Amino acid sequence: MQRIAQAPNSFIATLWVDALKAEGIAASVQRQYLSSAAGELPPDQCLPEVWIEHDHHAPHAEQVLHHLQHMPQQRWLCACGELVEGGFQQCWNCSAQMPT
Ligand SMILES: [Zn+2]
Repeated sequence: MQRIAQAPNSFIATLWVDALKAEGIAASVQRQYLSSAAGELPPDQCLPEVWIEHDHHAPHAEQVLHHLQHMPQQRWLCACGELVEGGFQQCWNCSAQMPT
């Protein structure tokens, strides 16, 4: 198990994991649940993390995520009004597919 990325929210974390799985990389979302004093910790302590099952997949996984995060044309306005950024082809607000 190896942490590969920290996602800004759980929707994005799930999309990243799905993208990794599509590439044959076993991945999962891990969230750091803090039992106490959560309010006193920096917010990034509570963000969801993307972990891969096998460490040797790390270079490929990083490549997949880099690709997802750097696709300038992948910025589109969904019918629900949500601006979807970050290379996702599905709206994280209403789950609609990117129009083609
Ligand atoms: Zn939408």
